[in-house]
Amino acid sequence: MRVLTVIGNRPQFVKAAAVSFRLREVADEVLVHTGQHYDDDLSAVFFDELELPRPEHRLELGGGSNTEQTGRMLAALDPLLAAEAPDAVLVYGDTNSTLAGALAAAQARVPVAHVEAGMRSFDRSMPEELNRVLADHAADLLLCSSEGPAQRLRDEAVQGEVVVVGDVMVDVAQLLAPRARERTAVLEACAVEPGAFLLATAHRAGNVDDPARLERLAALLTGLPDPVVLPLHPRTRARLDAAGLLGELEADLGVRLVPPLGYLDFTALLLHARAVLTDSGGVQKEAYLAGVPCLTLRDRTEWTETVDAGWNVLVDLDAAAAAAALARERPASRPPLYGDGRAGARVVQALLALRERVPA
Ligand code: UDP
Repeated sequence: MRVLTVIGNRPQFVKAAAVSFRLREVADEVLVHTGQHYDDDLSAVFFDELELPRPEHRLELGGGSNTEQTGRMLAALDPLLAAEAPDAVLVYGDTNSTLAGALAAAQARVPVAHVEAGMRSFDRSMPEELNRVLADHAADLLLCSSEGPAQRLRDEAVQGEVVVVGDVMVDVAQLLAPRARERTAVLEACAVEPGAFLLATAHRAGNVDDPARLERLAALLTGLPDPVVLPLHPRTRARLDAAGLLGELEADLGVRLVPPLGYLDFTALLLHARAVLTDSGGVQKEAYLAGVPCLTLRDRTEWTETVDAGWNVLVDLDAAAAAAALARERPASRPPLYGDGRAGARVVQALLALRERVPA
């Protein structure tokens, strides 16, 4: 079987790391990197640390509006699909690369498998939400992290087959947590003590592209009671700089601004943080897996189970809500919401079964 995998940004490198090496044991994988994330901080370091295979095709399609970028990807993937003639296309998550891979394959009549299918924030102003919904409805195989999204997809009457495989990020977290936990040098470099600092990330368009919200974000981060480590996404850095807010954050003694970190250093900080503040999807889930309380800097989330379990609070950019959430006791229990760390193997099994169902 020949599977063409389309990835393009940081969270997709993490997710693919749970699947690629297993897939290559039983099938031919052609890895396409769209170049959606091209900085070394957001790309190369992940290939090295997660031992991802080098992409067979590296496209340079980053930048531009979402529509422009998706359009460029579609145009580039069309001839590539014709040349590689895969039996299936595998996409992950909710980015422009996900949608472009799914749509180009569906148009070329190549079966599409979507990992992390069925997630919904029900906020159509998020570009990620459009990408998720459209990729799911183009897919032949919908691979879900848990039963909730699987039921949602059945309710939406998707055409493809729905399979609960568990969450591939659990595989990676379980595999690398022991190594990450030992990496305390990054805590020393940031001058923070285990259990006595907050880790923050923010890069969603809804938070950083609107100057008024960006200002509220900066105020929230500078008003927190503990030291904050803030690995700054290039998009956020650029917006802060343009709004004249970067100097204020740099000057704040409580905030440690650092460049975007590799997976191991970031996970080391996550595992030792008192709590995490984030607008990232993946980081909300990783905080839950690590047993670290999460404050989500959004008013909605697709990872609703973590909120229901009491480990994640949607504070949006409300500083008072953040202070209240930080003062809460940790919940007594943390059920295994996202599977057992063997999702990668189930993704591969489901792909092989797809090949049997949809012969070439
Ligand atoms: N991450 C990282 N370094 C950082 C920030 C995040 O390695 O400085 C990892 C994090 O552990 C998670 C992934 O990047 O696995 C999440 O990516 P991101 O927040 O960009 O995307 P989202 O999950 O919101 O789509």
